Amino acid sequence: MVDSSCSKVPGFADAVREAISASTRAFSRIVTPDDDRGDFLFNLIYSTPRASGGAAVSLNFAGIGSLNPVEGSPFVRANSNIRLYCDNDARWKPSEQQPGWVQDKDNGMVAPESSLCTTARDSNGQTGNLWGVRFNGRAPRVGENARRFTITLCDALLFPGVPVPSTFLNTGGKLLDWARFVQRTGLDEIRGVLSFTILHELAHCFNVPGDYAYGWEKVVALAAPQSLENADSYAFFGALSILPDFWRYRDAAPAVPSRKRRARQQRVTSFSS
Ligand SMILES: [Zn+2]
Repeated sequence: MVDSSCSKVPGFADAVREAISASTRAFSRIVTPDDDRGDFLFNLIYSTPRASGGAAVSLNFAGIGSLNPVEGSPFVRANSNIRLYCDNDARWKPSEQQPGWVQDKDNGMVAPESSLCTTARDSNGQTGNLWGVRFNGRAPRVGENARRFTITLCDALLFPGVPVPSTFLNTGGKLLDWARFVQRTGLDEIRGVLSFTILHELAHCFNVPGDYAYGWEKVVALAAPQSLENADSYAFFGALSILPDFWRYRDAAPAVPSRKRRARQQRVTSFSS
């Protein structure tokens, strides 16, 4: 379920759809026999052969790929495990039972107050660009779905003048000039695309609990089995599954990011959850 608060975010629906279709492509890349590129990419990102880790990873991608994003009505919300919000935490209220915690009046979730969009800080003390996944901090009650997740896109990520491309494909339906894009900025620029972030968070909704490593260099350095449970690894694999030109440019040296971009990446890195 995509909450109506997300309609204010340009390209949000497209980004959600792209994250899902990237997962479908990732799934087919893993299960297709004799896919040398798939083997290479899988080994590079998960640090284990496709033959040993592919089954679990493909199941998670199949799960994400089966999602059907619809805008939220009360009926839709009641039947959705995964709920995406762009309300900057409007629904969270201080918990009466637990000081320092907040509760979600619409979803019955609880979370530490420190993780809210409006209070989270990065290592430099800046307000966080938090994309929070908030799952139950308590046992589900009878009748509640134990798999329920809410995902929140904070205003801070979108509105301080930082342009966030929503999808890897441009609005004309043509492939972005990804090769030049990557050569100029390094692969971590992918992390600034909205659909990448959505894919990262959707991975957490399946059997991908970990945030062991963020960013390209750390992701490829991460060893299995952590890599098989690391959300950024899934986001990179999904993104690179739908970017066919990656192969020609995989050896290109990443450029040094600008100071501004580096600062932004650090914020995202600190607060992707
Ligand atoms: Zn995460």
